[in-house]
Amino acid sequence: KAQGRNQVVRFEPSMHQSAMKRFGLEADLKRAIAAGDQLELFYQPIIELKDGRLHGFEALIRWRHPERGMISPVDFIPLAEDTDMIVEIGRRSIMEAARQIAAWMPAEGDPPQIAVNVSGKQFMAAGLLEDIERTLQKTGIPKGSLKLEVTESLIMDNPERTAEILRKVITMGCKVSIDDFGTGYSSLSHLHRFPFNTLKIDRSFVMRIAESREGLEIVRVISSLAHILERDVVAEGVETEEQAALLAKLGIQYGQGYFWSKPLPATEASVFLAKNRQK
Ligand code: C2E
Ligand code: CA
Ligand code: CA
Ligand code: CA
Repeated sequence: KAQGRNQVVRFEPSMHQSAMKRFGLEADLKRAIAAGDQLELFYQPIIELKDGRLHGFEALIRWRHPERGMISPVDFIPLAEDTDMIVEIGRRSIMEAARQIAAWMPAEGDPPQIAVNVSGKQFMAAGLLEDIERTLQKTGIPKGSLKLEVTESLIMDNPERTAEILRKVITMGCKVSIDDFGTGYSSLSHLHRFPFNTLKIDRSFVMRIAESREGLEIVRVISSLAHILERDVVAEGVETEEQAALLAKLGIQYGQGYFWSKPLPATEASVFLAKNRQK
């Protein structure tokens, strides 16, 4: 806590599940879900590269632990997955994101899109589609403003089943992003039949575009692939003006990263949005 409200305390990367349990995080997470006010979505802006305007946000979860301060999702999402708590956490996140979209509904035009991360177990759990349907009804938001982000590796674990669910999500009117693209060895021959709207190029590729010619060429190839398939591209982890300019030159539509903003608590994201609307 002493580290300030936007600081995320990281545990040692070597700290594995059993250690997490030993430190009581599992019981704490159960309590956090019951308490209802410790898990919170932060929002990171996604920017249109050609004009710098706001396109939407990615919702990224944070745990405000009463004693340990802010805990990164990297440290508790795996635990939540192992213990099935992810299903309840994920269900609430979709609802919270939809409520945020409703709060951001402008008098005219569309609200910003919010992309919510959905992990494997949550995705395969019964009731996901019904939950989304109910959430859309309750909040009355435009369906296309809610986007689900699933990772490329989740897809590859079970391509048929994933495709079937994603097709329903899209039929429902919501959007789908493939996250961390390039890291999961998806079969290119399947990609064109896969139901999704957006490819997110993983940060590990974006990092290298200004460093080497190969780095740039790899992102160019991913981008032309998306172009051929008529899908949008978001480049994640953009940290410098040089990267943003190179990505724009490749014809990539959207960028996300510390260059524009870190993930922000809802109140600060609202300020970011208000400033953007004045532009
Ligand atoms: P991700 O979905 O790939 O999210 C991108 C991560 O990169 C976020 O970390 C974000 O804060 C960080 N990031 C954004 N821009 C930059 C940048 O310019 N430079 C660098 N170095 N990092 C940047 P975060 O918020 O710690 O989330 C980590 C991972 O935890 C996410 O990776 C995602 O897999 C998972 N996660 C986060 N929120 C949720 C959630 O609500 N549900 C599920 N299932 N998983 C989540
Ligand atoms: Ca993501
Ligand atoms: Ca990602
Ligand atoms: Ca990534």
